[in-house]
Amino acid sequence: MSRVHGPGSRLGIMGGGQLGRMLALAARRLGYRVHVYAPGGRSPAGQVADVEVTAGYQDEEAVRRFASGVDVLTFEFENVPADTVRWAAEHCEVRPDAKALATAQNRIREKTFLSDGGFPLVPWAKVTSSAELSGAAARLGYPAVLKTAESGYDGKGQRKLEGPGDLAAADLPPFPGVLEAWVPFVMEISVVLARGADGSVAVFPVCENIHRHHILDVTLVPARLDPAVARRAEELASAVAARLEFTGVLAVEMFVLADGSLLVNEIAPRPHNSGHFTLDACVTDQFEQQLRAVCGLPLGSPELLRPCAMANLLGELWSRGEPDWAAVAAFGDARIHLYGKEAAVAGRKMGHLTVLGATADTALERVRAARAALG
Ligand code: AMP
Repeated sequence: MSRVHGPGSRLGIMGGGQLGRMLALAARRLGYRVHVYAPGGRSPAGQVADVEVTAGYQDEEAVRRFASGVDVLTFEFENVPADTVRWAAEHCEVRPDAKALATAQNRIREKTFLSDGGFPLVPWAKVTSSAELSGAAARLGYPAVLKTAESGYDGKGQRKLEGPGDLAAADLPPFPGVLEAWVPFVMEISVVLARGADGSVAVFPVCENIHRHHILDVTLVPARLDPAVARRAEELASAVAARLEFTGVLAVEMFVLADGSLLVNEIAPRPHNSGHFTLDACVTDQFEQQLRAVCGLPLGSPELLRPCAMANLLGELWSRGEPDWAAVAAFGDARIHLYGKEAAVAGRKMGHLTVLGATADTALERVRAARAALG
């Protein structure tokens, strides 16, 4: 039986981005002391932590010292090297474990794990060379999408292939990678859930996700789906978490096809951008759930209080100077979340807005209007 780390304990977070920041805020609200380890200083998470350590993930001495100073360690970023996780685990409890991280940080391992478990996947092939790529493309057909095995996110490290002429394109992502058939989905969804070390599971309602330029733009909850399909999505995500023997918060992204069938796209072993609505719309939010799960506390209720829509605020909103905060504040029903990032680069997630409504559609209309008011 794993230990319980109650309020007053020291929570370590690897990674300094907005997911770490929102976890740190949840932990401080519950009386934890928060230590953040991030390669860049004054990170979004470090700004709201008790302690921020600025060092690289390969700095063994710094990693060991950091892990010795906390009771339990978790991640806001899954691409922490395996060695870093191993060093840390010699000094404190680490959740989720190295196996879950290793599975989620490499698309070949992730798809192998999912296909061994019998989960429905987009047709795919592992590709490690140009010859394998041509063979895989001939089998899967066009269009197809080539994705690098590691470190890709928000559409980075991906290239759509429209025909054999693209097989030798100069901007292909590096091998090893996976080639996927292009899926004519009718909706993209995600299921965010928390799983405790004792196997208990709390599943948030299914999110409907709309992307722009491969980056999440808006999330609507509940997803506008047949309830039977939503239930299947929740079951699928719970089964993935169980097979991974996962402890923490897990997000499972899926494609919904016209006939209602589901395909798993990818998994994230941490809170997810699509789960930000939980901060304002659920009894317990995804960050508090992560804290509870990794600290061995019982999970909170994931119940949705009202339908909700969330809109991301990307760096391009700053392209003509500071957005008009007074205009969005005038929307009394929009909640503003900002991540404290210093440089607004196009495509960078700077914050988000949430609006609750009588239906997800009315909330969507309001959140889009509030965002448009920013300029
Ligand atoms: P990913 O980084 O794998 O989540 O991909 C980013 C986005 O690209 C997804 O959310 C989809 O909108 C799109 N996409 C990725 N893979 C496929 C695919 N096999 N078929 C169609 N669209 C895809």
